Amino acid sequence: MSKGKRVVVVGAGPAGLFTAFGLARLGAHVTVIDAAVGINDSPRANVYLHSTIKALDNVGLLDDAKEIAALGHAFQMHFPLSGNVGTMDFRLLEGLTYPFTLHFGQNRLAELILRHFLAFDGTAMRWNTRFIGAEQSADAVQLSVEVDGVGATMDADWVIGADGARSSVRKALGIEFEGFTWPDTFMATNLYFDFEKYGYAASNMVAAGEDWHVIAKIDDQHLWRIAYGEDSDLSEEQRLARIRERYRNFLPRNASFELERANSYRVHQRSANTYRKGRVLLAGDAAHATNPIGGMGFTSGVQDAQALVRALGQLWNNEAGDDVLDFYAEERRRVFLEVANPTAIDHKRRTQRTDPAARVADEQGFIGMTRDPDAVRHAVMSVFKLEGVPYTPDWRAGFQRPVAPLAAG
Ligand SMILES: Cc1cc2nc3c(=O)[nH]c(=O)nc-3n(C[C@H](O)[C@H](O)[C@H](O)COP(=O)(O)OP(=O)(O)OC[C@H]3O[C@@H](n4cnc5c(N)ncnc54)[C@H](O)[C@@H]3O)c2cc1C
Repeated sequence: MSKGKRVVVVGAGPAGLFTAFGLARLGAHVTVIDAAVGINDSPRANVYLHSTIKALDNVGLLDDAKEIAALGHAFQMHFPLSGNVGTMDFRLLEGLTYPFTLHFGQNRLAELILRHFLAFDGTAMRWNTRFIGAEQSADAVQLSVEVDGVGATMDADWVIGADGARSSVRKALGIEFEGFTWPDTFMATNLYFDFEKYGYAASNMVAAGEDWHVIAKIDDQHLWRIAYGEDSDLSEEQRLARIRERYRNFLPRNASFELERANSYRVHQRSANTYRKGRVLLAGDAAHATNPIGGMGFTSGVQDAQALVRALGQLWNNEAGDDVLDFYAEERRRVFLEVANPTAIDHKRRTQRTDPAARVADEQGFIGMTRDPDAVRHAVMSVFKLEGVPYTPDWRAGFQRPVAPLAAG
């Protein structure tokens, strides 16, 4: 029944492409459109957590991902006030889930998924094609697009808006993006430096108050990410000019390194008020945005993609009614507001905390947890809460719509 269904996915980021690939596997005719000329290679996601690894494995992409990935075997929290470091050793997960994280740039993940997607008949990738608007009837959607700046239309049975946090699809549908934007600006910088030589794990958060930073591996050739905060009042030129000065607080004295690239981002805790309007569904950052400390962004987006493919498959195969798409919309919003959003806020607060007493309490709590193997397993496995619950026809009974994201204060 999925054969011949026409789907347009707006956005060739990792969430859009994962959805497109999943729907192509079901036999749908899927076209991905993207306003850009190619895959965005700005420094963004580079750590893929255990639930994302499972999602890749579910669709047969894990072996290819492992070919390009560096593996991470631990997460560390560094406490510069005391000099202590707490380590969560992923080898404790052996037999329970994947005892590693994967590390590589999200542009490489997007390239990998795109290659597999285009191997299916009836698929297409259209670059330089900007979504402008959509009109829908009970049976179909007509999209207005600009191709190389020239207006055109496209017809689809279903449209997936996966066009990132500034989503034009979400805006065209008049869907609110509730929540808030943090005052600080995040710097994502990639550099060549051998952090392992200095005892760092593949993923690290350094709870250093205003000098907070996150250090994570990107590949096995010493390419790493340092993310840290900057004053939003500075210009982009000023922020970029300060990188070397800021690095003095993050790297060993007199360390020599090579800066590979850098970018800045405003970060948000926001969720669309609804993830569905008729035949148009939102997924990934178009549906929700979070600060990236702790990697909840694409870790949530890939679960949207997986859930959306499952829901459309159930609908097309008459295993569920149209309400399976309402379920998708409500359940994914619930999971973001109840799991991803508070987790990401908690990671940000713990990493940036300035109050010494609170920092000592965080340190005691974290290091105590790392000494208890069951507590480590429990903490790592909590990421699977992002998968949400499966559809049942009576899902509406007792479903409580979560409230909007917490206020910043
Ligand atoms: C510094 C940083 C580090 C991060 N690290 C991690 C991490 O380690 N792990 C993790 O899970 N997440 C991380 N994230 C979050 C992650 O990058 C995002 O969640 C992810 O990019 C979302 O993917 P997406 O496909 O939803 O959207 P995007 O990647 O934003 O893709 C959207 C696409 O839509 C296209 N588009 C936009 N408008 C239009 C239009 N009108 N018409 C057509 N196309 C359009 C864009 O060109 C783009 O290609 C990080 C984010 C940042 C900023």
